[in-house]
Amino acid sequence: MKQQCISCGGIFDDVQRDGMQYFHACPPLSVAELKAAIVAKTLTFTAAAQAAYDAAKAADVASPPAAGTSSRVDAFLFGLNVDRPNKRDENIVPPTDASKPATIKSAGKGVQPAPAGSDVGATAV
Ligand SMILES: [Zn+2]
Repeated sequence: MKQQCISCGGIFDDVQRDGMQYFHACPPLSVAELKAAIVAKTLTFTAAAQAAYDAAKAADVASPPAAGTSSRVDAFLFGLNVDRPNKRDENIVPPTDASKPATIKSAGKGVQPAPAGSDVGATAV
């Protein structure tokens, strides 16, 4: 059944085409999401990351990227790998007590049935 992750908006099938179960884990924040977080002041850099970000910004100003190429700021942000708030991770955590059920790493904001028409891009067989 198609599900939509409420944390990241990702749509996925809980069973893959080969019959294996799929355990969703939210991807890290995208470059666009990181830029929005910087503007909203919800992303805090370490001192070293702030220095690297400032250096990338200064380098972009001093030598603007050619059309169609990534800026140094984009390249820096792409490499940050920042987890989103309320990240969902369905990978299994084994129980410490055999009488208890296994749990997922993090529920995040949960999942909901995927909206109708979300099969766009699926391969027909
Ligand atoms: Zn997700």
